[in-house]
Amino acid sequence: MHDKTLTELKAGLNAGDFSSRELTEHFLDRIKRHDGELNSFITVTEEQALRQADAADQAIAAGDHRLLTGLPIAHKDIFCTEGVRTSCGSRMLDNFIAPYTATAVEKMATEGAVMLGKTNMDEFAMGSSNETSFYGPVKNPWDTERVPGGSSGGAAAGLAARLAPGATGTDTGGSIRQPAALNGVTGLKPTYGRVSRWGMIAFASSLDQAGPLGLSAADCALMLQAMAGHDEKDSTCLNEPVDDYLGALDQSVDGLKIGVPEEFFPDNLDGAIADNAREAMRELEKQGAKLIKLSLPSIKLSVPAYYVIAPAEASSNLSRFDGVRFGYRCEDPKDLEDLYKRSRSEGFGAEVKRRILVGTYALSAGYYDAYYKRAQKVRRLIRDDFSRAFKDVDVIMGPTSPETAFKLGAKADDPVNMYMADVFTIAVNLAGLPALSMPSGFINGLPAGTQVIGNYFQEGRILNVAHRYQMATDWHQQAPGGFA
Ligand code: GLN
Repeated sequence: MHDKTLTELKAGLNAGDFSSRELTEHFLDRIKRHDGELNSFITVTEEQALRQADAADQAIAAGDHRLLTGLPIAHKDIFCTEGVRTSCGSRMLDNFIAPYTATAVEKMATEGAVMLGKTNMDEFAMGSSNETSFYGPVKNPWDTERVPGGSSGGAAAGLAARLAPGATGTDTGGSIRQPAALNGVTGLKPTYGRVSRWGMIAFASSLDQAGPLGLSAADCALMLQAMAGHDEKDSTCLNEPVDDYLGALDQSVDGLKIGVPEEFFPDNLDGAIADNAREAMRELEKQGAKLIKLSLPSIKLSVPAYYVIAPAEASSNLSRFDGVRFGYRCEDPKDLEDLYKRSRSEGFGAEVKRRILVGTYALSAGYYDAYYKRAQKVRRLIRDDFSRAFKDVDVIMGPTSPETAFKLGAKADDPVNMYMADVFTIAVNLAGLPALSMPSGFINGLPAGTQVIGNYFQEGRILNVAHRYQMATDWHQQAPGGFA
């Protein structure tokens, strides 16, 4: 049952081949047996899952078939879930029981989804390896001595090991796509404003976006169909009609124009990674797509611009964690100042503190113009590069990540090296565009991913491109051994 895609499980449920309770129990049992090794879940919500599964079975019996009725989904622990601990991977929120549910999660529940639990992540979604989690690192199921990527590492690793058939994640600079690539699964970051951010704990509000991770592009389309749409509770959530993502999957890619930016294939890129992405594009070429070389000259500035803008926004967003209103409070504070100081020093981990310091510095009087304002100008140049490119091409492709899964600890003491893990994903967030990572093969036994970037609100197009690729290949069907 666990090797099936969500799309297949949905058909099985609707045909009565098995019940949602059986399906849910199957995945809960797999989590019990295998997650000790992977650490992909922070919280498993067994009782709630079984309750939702029973309700789904009743709905199916009554002929009420919605998009996700009876399908078990794992949610990243950044989404508030009413009555359930929502930790964001931090000691700061270890004791935080959310009083309400994030819109993205609520919309999936309304479509009948069953919540299995909350997945592990880098603390406050800051990281590319899942090593900054207060709950310990997640292991990559393809090689448990390696990282799963981050920050949605728990989602991607749990999905790859088939502990959940579908998952949610968030992507501020690559946190859905990079772990999807490192675990051999498909992950989609929608257009900024496509999915509501309400109830999603904020890291960098102008970049954060929620999206699905699945075993196929079709599964991501199914989940996005439920997640996307206007929400009056989030003023940045755009009031645009939601496309028929499922309906668009099968379209032909004959004549599709694929832009291939030279900046995604720099001279120092690992040859195996470059070959892997080129091979994926050749597969689409066989189906009639045309490859068009282009240049996005400003994107070489995306990592430095991001590491000013994201920490600046984070320093502001994270000021709400003061030991008074939410979460962790230090023992026996002497006075108010001591309460703030110690609650924050003890509640946050090292990477989060580094970002708060960098961000506060970049926003301070005297440095604001030199750093923050300049980074915002670079951001505009990056956006303009993409806008120009999308006049000539339909999608843009390249590798998702400059390397496959690295060893646990390999970059833990070298933040700048860690930041480079997102060199191919960050520009997309700065521009607010949608992009997807799809499995495109293996290098020395480890999964590699190829990125497909679309113009604003072209989620349907990039899902379609990935789906056509997946109809011709079986990389997305490979599963790691050892999790029977
Ligand atoms: N790895 C990047 C960072 O640490 C991106 C994280 C994310 O997308 N949430 O900020």
